Amino acid sequence: MNFVGITQYHFSQKFKLVPVLAFTLIGIIISIIAGAIYMVSSYYVSLMPLNIVILFAMIYGLSKICKWVRQSSNCRNYRVNITITILLCLVAYYSNLVTFETLFFYKWSEWGELFKSPTDVYSILLNDIIPNRMIKISRYTNSSIIRISGIWLVIFYIIEFFAFCLPVLSVEKEYHFCDECRTWHQHHIFIAIVDEKISTAIKQSPSGKYANILANVEFYENNAEFQTKKKELFSRFPSDIDSVDILIFHYYLCPKCQKNGVLTIVCQRCVRNEQGELHVKEYSYDNHLVDNIYLDTSTEQFFTDLKNKIK
Ligand SMILES: [Zn+2]
Repeated sequence: MNFVGITQYHFSQKFKLVPVLAFTLIGIIISIIAGAIYMVSSYYVSLMPLNIVILFAMIYGLSKICKWVRQSSNCRNYRVNITITILLCLVAYYSNLVTFETLFFYKWSEWGELFKSPTDVYSILLNDIIPNRMIKISRYTNSSIIRISGIWLVIFYIIEFFAFCLPVLSVEKEYHFCDECRTWHQHHIFIAIVDEKISTAIKQSPSGKYANILANVEFYENNAEFQTKKKELFSRFPSDIDSVDILIFHYYLCPKCQKNGVLTIVCQRCVRNEQGELHVKEYSYDNHLVDNIYLDTSTEQFFTDLKNKIK
């Protein structure tokens, strides 16, 4: 889709090597500690359901660490961010493995020595652990304990490895950033149901001038509140109107200078079914009315006021 006459926000893909390296180094240290803590806790629990809970907590924590590194180093480059995230995930997994083997075969004082020798770490895993280790699944009575070993243990380790890599999925492709203030834009979401005429007017409006078009529209910030009110909001439209639009406004604004607001509007078309009720016809994240555009002064003010009013 072309947005003629509209200035689109440009994703710069910029990054500076020194902060990226510095924060990645800090991230590596934190990931090593996180991997070791994960292993120590799951080692002493040694019960599959609880291990899975600990694993989920680990994935969540690791995602936060990776996000912190990406944000703190002000890196807007997707490939660099993916690389940082993969690296931190692998480091955390490796640290977990080293800790596991230390608990089985070594003293804590030897942890550092083992960490520096990846070949030893993998040969111990393949030759000593997988053929001999078992994991308990339940412990009601001794006779009903289920243990996994051999090939099932290999599958468990493979799943665990991929679970450690899940934070890679949380890397975003688009980063809104204020180059003047060197800070990330805040993301605000507003939802509204509008007549199709308003969507058309937005599409045809040049240079991000939407303040007048949206002046009488009722906005919701909370999706749960919007969903509970949706039926009532639909009923406000006369029955001769066959289609209405749910518009989701993504507004990005620098928290420091409060300038250069960027807007994306996603449109969900709703049509009447045979019973005469409005329902969402098609849902798509790509159905953009406008895509990352700069706004004129009055529209920017409109959304800034809306943000302050709703929050
Ligand atoms: Zn700024």
